[in-house]
Amino acid sequence: MKIYEKAPAKINLLLDVLRKREDGFHEVEMIMTMVDLADRLEMEELPRDSIMISSQAGYIPLDEKNLAFQAAKLIKDRYDVRKGVYIHLDKKIPVAAGLAGGSSDAAATLRGLNRLWGLNIPQDELCKLGAELGSDVPFCVTGGTALATGRGERLERIDNPPQCWVVLAKPPINVSTADVYGRFRVSDIKEHPSTAAMLGAISRGSFSDICGNLGNVLESVTLGLYPEVLQLKESMERLGADGVLMSGSGPTVFGLVSKEAKVSRIYNGLRGFCKEVYVVRMLT
Ligand code: ATP
Repeated sequence: MKIYEKAPAKINLLLDVLRKREDGFHEVEMIMTMVDLADRLEMEELPRDSIMISSQAGYIPLDEKNLAFQAAKLIKDRYDVRKGVYIHLDKKIPVAAGLAGGSSDAAATLRGLNRLWGLNIPQDELCKLGAELGSDVPFCVTGGTALATGRGERLERIDNPPQCWVVLAKPPINVSTADVYGRFRVSDIKEHPSTAAMLGAISRGSFSDICGNLGNVLESVTLGLYPEVLQLKESMERLGADGVLMSGSGPTVFGLVSKEAKVSRIYNGLRGFCKEVYVVRMLT
């Protein structure tokens, strides 16, 4: 039997860091939602008890360093499954981009193997397993739109934002999330974004207030390290996006756009100097 799972990319509408904890993790408040740019996973049972990963993307690990491999191993060990699986990753989400591609693949693997092996694991258990793999994985298991707190693993489902276009642009640099958090100092942040204001804007369904309350404190690190990310933000604003923000630890910048007529102008303007530009919809 063969099954398929979609692994969509996430964007952060808001990312705030409250403090560094004693365990080394950061206490965060994030509002995350999914966009219609997705990896596609194909999973097939193997006649022998092993995990095999393949992908057309030449630049990701295909061994136990791959997050889909780690997810398969975790679910196999925890539920004592003595079966093997072959997972093919059709990568569409750019890697190390701040779009949680690896986390979403891990989450899709958990959902998919739950089905393939008929394990009937409830969603909250899958989320707990996901939290062992990475802070963004539980959100990727559930999808939708959520407020994430703690180190990102505590989730509260909220309304989806109103439908709009999302233009994503990734400059040709790879950013390590661990490196960005390593350089981040809460004391450097003069003004934190308002989680309450963003939650209010979403619950009212106000597109303009959502655009007005976008915020990501990690921009203070990534924009300082890579001026091209700042230039990309400024270009997207100049080209007429309604709201612009860096996603996660970057370097991908996204622009929210309500009017279709504006989208192609922004896309064409960015394509002049940035190779990786995507026009997608919010997944609502
Ligand atoms: P986040 O927003 O959660 O920080 P990201 O989008 O910045 O994630 P990923 O695309 O998840 O970053 O990749 C981060 C690292 O994880 C890369 O260095 C990559 O080699 C490794 N990796 C492991 N498994 C995968 C996978 N299935 N897809 C992409 N990268 C993976």
